[in-house]
Amino acid sequence: MTEPGSFGALGPGARVGVVGAGQLGRMLALAGARLGLHSVVFANSPDEPAIEVCGAHVIGDYADEAALARFADQVDVVTYEFENIPAGAAEFLAARLPVRPGPQVLAITQDRLREKNFIAGLGLDVAPYVAVEDPGALARAVGQIGRPSILKTRRFGYDGKGQVLIREGGDLASAFRSLGGQSAILEGFVQFKAEISVVAARGLNGEFVAYDVCQNVHEHHILATTSVPADIAPSLARRAQEMARTIAEALDYVGVIAVEMFLVETAGGNTLLVNEVAPRVHNSGHWTLDGAATSQFEQHLRAICGFPLGSARRLGRVEMRNLIGDDILRWREILAEPDACLHLYGKAESRSGRKMGHVTRFLP
Ligand code: AMP
Repeated sequence: MTEPGSFGALGPGARVGVVGAGQLGRMLALAGARLGLHSVVFANSPDEPAIEVCGAHVIGDYADEAALARFADQVDVVTYEFENIPAGAAEFLAARLPVRPGPQVLAITQDRLREKNFIAGLGLDVAPYVAVEDPGALARAVGQIGRPSILKTRRFGYDGKGQVLIREGGDLASAFRSLGGQSAILEGFVQFKAEISVVAARGLNGEFVAYDVCQNVHEHHILATTSVPADIAPSLARRAQEMARTIAEALDYVGVIAVEMFLVETAGGNTLLVNEVAPRVHNSGHWTLDGAATSQFEQHLRAICGFPLGSARRLGRVEMRNLIGDDILRWREILAEPDACLHLYGKAESRSGRKMGHVTRFLP
């Protein structure tokens, strides 16, 4: 349902297509139902978590144009819960209907080198980095950046996958081979004081709303906890939110965006380095389901449908903890805690490193 004169804004009853059907797609669909939106997910297999909470779904490979066309026919707007959808699939869909955030955002955020160049080009700080195309280039890059440093594939990395630490004395040729010989970047190892993220939304009309800054702890490269508000000075928190706004505006972004940053202590004070931009709802924003006036999932849908954005007001001091692998076995204990808010993703099988759910707790 599109209202006349609404410049691309939709209304309740609109059909939202979500590419990807994991837990993020599931939580988007649940939030959509509350707003009277109909969600259709594009899934790679029939047992993905979002399918059971959506009215309709299409199963296919991202390269399957017939499946993508069936999906496009059933929806009014497309978004994604997964940024590594092939550029060809995003362009195929964008030729047929609005894709928000747009394919220009994917082109940048799918490629660590383009992303770093883009962010540095905005005058924002990032860790030192050099492009690495072959083992010879890696040796030169290590000469420039030093050790320890981290070699990261340009594409398809997440949760520490596609990364290898270059230590003192480590063999460079085998490090390059361990990433499959793909194009990569070498990044200086950052001795950070804290990891933070800004989860924010930009509307179709350019309106920008940021949640309070999140402080994140990773274990084995996977997010373990997010605490909000971050334990940082208010001026630094405002700076982090402004950095996210600069990035969102430069990308002409529509939807929820997450910007991950390192807080580094230097002789001149505290500095924020941008690590990564996630063009989607983000794990460090899950606390907003219970801890903010508008959840990041509802906020994303409001943005991509052209609705007014909601308030990002925080409802208390909160901690979100991911339930990874066998952590899910504690579900009964967590349910028995009076102030714990449990979210389970409906995944049949628990595997090591697999995100099975999360719990949000209000702190005193
Ligand atoms: P990424 O996939 O780039 O978000 O990296 C996952 C996690 O690895 C980050 O959240 C950090 O904990 C760690 N990490 C990534 N890059 C660096 C770096 N340059 N220096 C130190 N730690 C890093």
